[in-house]
Amino acid sequence: MTSFPEAARVELANVQLRANLRNATDTIRAKRARVVAEAPDWEELREAGKAIKEDVLAHMDEYLLQFEAAVQEVGGRVHWARDAAEANAVVAGVARAHGVDEVVKVKSLTTDEIGLNDALAAVGIHALETDFAELILQLDGDWPSHILVPAIHRNRTEIRDLFARTIAPGIASDDPRDLAEAARVYLRERFLAARVGVSGANFGIAETGAVCVVESEGNGRMCTTLPEVLVTVLGIEKLLPRFSDLEVFLQLLPRSATGERMNPYTSIWTGVTEGDGPQEFHVVLLDNGRTRVLRDEIGRQALHCIRCSACLNVCPVYSRTGGHAYGSVYPGPIGAILTPQLRGIENAASLPFASTLCGACYEVCPVKIDIPRVLLHLRSLAPKPARERALLRAAAWVFRGPRRFAAAQRLGRRVPFPRAWTRSRDVKPFPSETFRDWWRRERGA
Ligand code: SF4
Repeated sequence: MTSFPEAARVELANVQLRANLRNATDTIRAKRARVVAEAPDWEELREAGKAIKEDVLAHMDEYLLQFEAAVQEVGGRVHWARDAAEANAVVAGVARAHGVDEVVKVKSLTTDEIGLNDALAAVGIHALETDFAELILQLDGDWPSHILVPAIHRNRTEIRDLFARTIAPGIASDDPRDLAEAARVYLRERFLAARVGVSGANFGIAETGAVCVVESEGNGRMCTTLPEVLVTVLGIEKLLPRFSDLEVFLQLLPRSATGERMNPYTSIWTGVTEGDGPQEFHVVLLDNGRTRVLRDEIGRQALHCIRCSACLNVCPVYSRTGGHAYGSVYPGPIGAILTPQLRGIENAASLPFASTLCGACYEVCPVKIDIPRVLLHLRSLAPKPARERALLRAAAWVFRGPRRFAAAQRLGRRVPFPRAWTRSRDVKPFPSETFRDWWRRERGA
């Protein structure tokens, strides 16, 4: 993948992108702050969310088996997928078994992570995105730059022109209501004709085998209720032990995500019910690097994430570069700690450095992920350029010998720092007297 600094340089040149990002993140941030301030137990909710997630990670094996048994008991089928290829093969297999050439899909980062649309396209099946913003991106061959507002980098005139070229020839208005109506008309028939739906999920309940999707357009509800067959791809970290745990997360998530007290559409389904909704239900339990993340005691807290995107909206780096620079479906601070762990640090070594370590992400995170700490941890694991390695080896050698250290201090006062270092950093002048000099003067050798 392109390194973050290189990709960011390209994105920073996009003035429209930066204006859109500023508008959107400012608005969502202000709304979030308002609704969080009116919840007197917000800190307790955050603590509860964190505690539940820690429990899930500590007993992941038990909860997964409990979830599998509960889903089977209510008529669903569970598939275990070690990686993207296995998960994609399951979804493709189900779709082919039903002889369809199109499935309807509700926005899902997990299916984006595994590249499901491309995998289905390779076997002749079109995955139709039904979320408004995802549809825009799909029509234009683009990809998301924000977790919750995937088309944040597009403005409405661009969208009107795109619709005129694709799904709504002749559309002249760029009024948001007219654009939404055009998408609604286009999608409605496809929903009614669809025989297979594909979703991700925000939560899976180990106790009951229920699966929960929160969204704000109603397209998710159409996807999960109209088709005869439903396949849900669930990252294994999305489990919650009990149904009652939803009480905590359904307060934390909408307030942190869109600054709303309640989510507009919360769909929860449990297995198969005769004559009501899909009559065949599959859950794909996806690992794809998550158990490796789980093994890292510091890094594993990234698996607490409920994908609210609050950390993106406060991040001074994300708000300038946008999501594409992160080279993954997980942008912003959460992407900077999740992607290197899912893909392997050697494959995304620049991402943990895409942060000022200001700590704003930690302050807003509803499940209290200590993102700056994980960033520092990952920085320590990242492969270093040869020059930096050599420099650190030399520094270690100097620090190990008192005479060498004293000599280096003397030298430091005379030799200027390299320009590459000081171009973006202020280096304080060396003091005229070091601690050791002072000690010698005051106390003797
Ligand atoms: S890391 Fe925290 S703030 Fe960021 S998306 Fe995940 S839950 Fe939200």
